Amino acid sequence: MILHDLKEVRMQTYIVHFGELGLKGHNRIFFVRQLVDNLRAVLRDAAEVEVRGFHSHILVKTPAAMPAAVLEERLSKVYGIAYYAPTTVVPSDFETIAQAALQLAEGVITATTTFKVNTTRGDKRFPLTSQAMDREIGARIVDKTGAPVRLKGPDVTLNIQIYEDATYLFIRRLPGAGGLPVGVSGRVLALFSGGIDSPVAAAMLLKRGCTLDLLHFHLLPDVEQARASKIVNLARAVLTPQRLAAPLYLVSAAPFETAMAGIETRVTTVVFRRFMMRVAECIAAQCHCLALVTGESLGQVASQTLHNINLISRATTLPILRPLISFDKPEIIAAAQRLGTYDLSIQPYRDPCSLHARHPATYADLDEVARVEATIGVTDLLDITLRDYVDEVWIE
Ligand code: ATP
Ligand code: MG
Repeated sequence: MILHDLKEVRMQTYIVHFGELGLKGHNRIFFVRQLVDNLRAVLRDAAEVEVRGFHSHILVKTPAAMPAAVLEERLSKVYGIAYYAPTTVVPSDFETIAQAALQLAEGVITATTTFKVNTTRGDKRFPLTSQAMDREIGARIVDKTGAPVRLKGPDVTLNIQIYEDATYLFIRRLPGAGGLPVGVSGRVLALFSGGIDSPVAAAMLLKRGCTLDLLHFHLLPDVEQARASKIVNLARAVLTPQRLAAPLYLVSAAPFETAMAGIETRVTTVVFRRFMMRVAECIAAQCHCLALVTGESLGQVASQTLHNINLISRATTLPILRPLISFDKPEIIAAAQRLGTYDLSIQPYRDPCSLHARHPATYADLDEVARVEATIGVTDLLDITLRDYVDEVWIE
C-alpha cells in the first residue's frame, strides 16, 4: 500500500480523449488498442511509462522526472487524440471528488476569476447527476474562494469526469492533433519528391491513420549518395513525431533518363509521371500498399492540369490519393512550416522532374505519350528499373 502510494506520487497522469471517429462496434476496441500502442511508442524512452486504454479514454502515467513540456509536446503530435489533460485521479466518491476539486481550484480560481464546473458521467450509476455535481462542487468552490460562477466563457473550467474505474479532475485541457491513430486505416505508398508538397501530403495520410511506405526517384550516381541526401532527413521529419519507422524505396531514374535522351517532345513530364506510377504500383503490390499518395495540387504546374492528371492516373489501377489537390501553395507552405519540413524542403536538390520542366505540355496528347512510351520500351524499362535500380533504406 505504502509502496503503491509512493509510486503514485512519483508519477504524473494525463487523461487522453479520442475525437470524432468511426468508433462504432468492434472498430472502437481496435482503435483504442492502436492508440495505446502508438502512445507507448512515443514514450518508449521513458522508463516506467504506463498507458492504459479504457472504453472512452486512455490514461498515460509517466515518471515525474519527465518534464511536462516534453511529454506534452509529444502527446500534442500523436494522431487520434482530440484533447488531453494533466489530471488528478480519485475514487468515484462524492466527498473525495469534492476535496480534490477544492485542491485543484486552490491558487487557480480566486475571487477575481470567473469559473464553472463541467461534470460528465461515464458511469450513470453515480448517485448525483452531472448538473447536481456542477452545482454542489461549484457551491463549495464559491464558499472557499468567493469566485463568481460564469457558465458562458468563464476564465477557468474545472472538468470532472466520472467513470467506473475512477474520477478525473482537470483544468488545463490541451488540444490534440486530431485525426485517427496511425495504423488503423491501412498502408499507403507515398511518392516523396523532396519538394514542399509531398511531405505534407504524406503527413496528411498519416493523420488519417495510414501507415506509410515512401518512394523516391532520384538521379544520384549511387545509392550511398541517395542515402546521404536530404530525402532521408525529410522522411525522418515526417515520421519522427509519431516515432514511426518505415521503408524508403530509392529508385534511380537513370535508365529512364538514358532511354529518353535525344527524344524531342513536350510530354516528357507526363511520360515520366506515368512511369513513376507504374513503378509505384509494382512496389505497392510487394509491400501490400492499397493506394498511392502524391502532393499534386490542381493547376499548380504543367503536369498538374486536370487533363494531365487524367493521363497520369491511367497508368495505374491503384487509387491515387491527392490530399492537397485543392490547396493553394501558401496553404501548403503554411502546413509544411507547421509540420517542420519546410526548411528541409527548400534546400537545393536536383529531382528528376526538375529536368523536364522547360516547356512541358499542359495538355499532353495521349497518342504522343503512347508513341514515346513505345519508343523507350516502357515495359522493359520498368522491368530493368525494378530489377536493378531499387534500394531500400529503413528510416527510424
Ligand atoms: P513537391 O513539392 O512535392 O515536389 P511539386 O509541386 O514540385 O511537389 P511535382 O514536382 O510536379 O510537384 O510533383 C508532384 C508530385 O509527384 C509530388 O508531390 C510527389 O508526390 C510526386 N513526385 C514528384 N517527383 C518525385 C520524385 N522524384 N520521387 C517521388 N515522387 C515524386
Ligand atoms: Mg517536385
